[in-house]
Amino acid sequence: MVYTCKKCKFMFDRVGLVERCPDCGSENFRPASKEEKAEFEGYQKEFNKKSENRTA
Ligand SMILES: [Zn+2]
Repeated sequence: MVYTCKKCKFMFDRVGLVERCPDCGSENFRPASKEEKAEFEGYQKEFNKKSENRTA
């Protein structure tokens, strides 16, 4: 499940219970919307692509 932190806008993917934002430590986060999740997954794909290019 993807979450968005309300405080720092950090998005993170976690399975199971999440207590704090891994970035700022805030407990003030919510599940990401469908649109946000799509954006997050697109970003992850782009990031993986770039790391592959870097190592190649
Ligand atoms: Zn945060």
